[in-house]
Amino acid sequence: MEKLKIAIQKKGRLSEKSLELFKDCGIKFSTGISSLKTESSNFPVELLFLRDDDIPQYVEKSVADIGILGENEVLEKNKNVKSIRKLGFASCRLSLAIPKEEEYTGITYFNNKKVATSYPHILEEYFKNNNINAELEEIGGSVEIAPSIGLADGICDLVSSGSTLLTNGLKEVEVVLKSQAVMIANPNLSEEKQEILEKLIFRLEAKKKSNEHKYIILNAPNDKLEDIIKVIPGMRSPSVFPLADGKWSSFHSVVKEDTFWEVIDELKEKGAEGILVLPIEKMIY
Ligand code: ATP
Ligand code: ZN
Repeated sequence: MEKLKIAIQKKGRLSEKSLELFKDCGIKFSTGISSLKTESSNFPVELLFLRDDDIPQYVEKSVADIGILGENEVLEKNKNVKSIRKLGFASCRLSLAIPKEEEYTGITYFNNKKVATSYPHILEEYFKNNNINAELEEIGGSVEIAPSIGLADGICDLVSSGSTLLTNGLKEVEVVLKSQAVMIANPNLSEEKQEILEKLIFRLEAKKKSNEHKYIILNAPNDKLEDIIKVIPGMRSPSVFPLADGKWSSFHSVVKEDTFWEVIDELKEKGAEGILVLPIEKMIY
């Protein structure tokens, strides 16, 4: 039987979360990440541990079938790969920054300026779309020190909290791109591999939905039944169990995390008491 070959970052900001993803899907790996690759003992996949910069190329060339990496790297490398899922971690932005004592006058500030970056393709495209004529200085790392050593006037680099910029005397002035971890795939997977991928995505979705929802249990008087059902429709409709006293019922349902507090407020208003909220481990529908 064929195995789906998955490329993940060997060592860096994406590694731990990438491995966690498989753990959440119940996929086990025998050996640790010290080796170059490892097979799962209970699911037809194999992990390859690589530098994130190389993942688009390996997926394009079918060395790996799918890969997990930052959108920033996928766009920069611009290989023939398909983005199939955003994964909701490693959020960051690719931003332009300049020395903090400089007065920023808007994007035209960058006309005739020199900008250091590890993302020359994305930045070139961005400047072109904004009619800016700047010079790019491509460097592999430690981009944030470029202005202080006189290599460039500004930088374009990944930012999450902004503390690295601050300690290097820089301020963020434009966001070029927002990024997070994504799953990419070779566009020509065999049918068998496509099936494994779909199984994997099914499991990922179940986990994602469970994170976005909470299980809720509450008590309310029977005459409030109609009102409460309107507030917590649940997956189909809430389960209602009579309490021993005969005048009250217990309601069980599922609510979405993003509307959660509004729902709780409304339930309290409608007379709900003893509200319990529980995490959901997996959700399948
Ligand atoms: P490799 O050795 O694999 O090439 P790297 O140094 O390129 O590693 P990391 O610094 O581990 O990579 O970053 C990997 C990815 O994590 C980035 O491409 C980006 O998508 C994401 N990321 C999230 N927040 C940040 C941040 N503050 N700085 C840099 N990358 C970040
Ligand atoms: Zn890298």
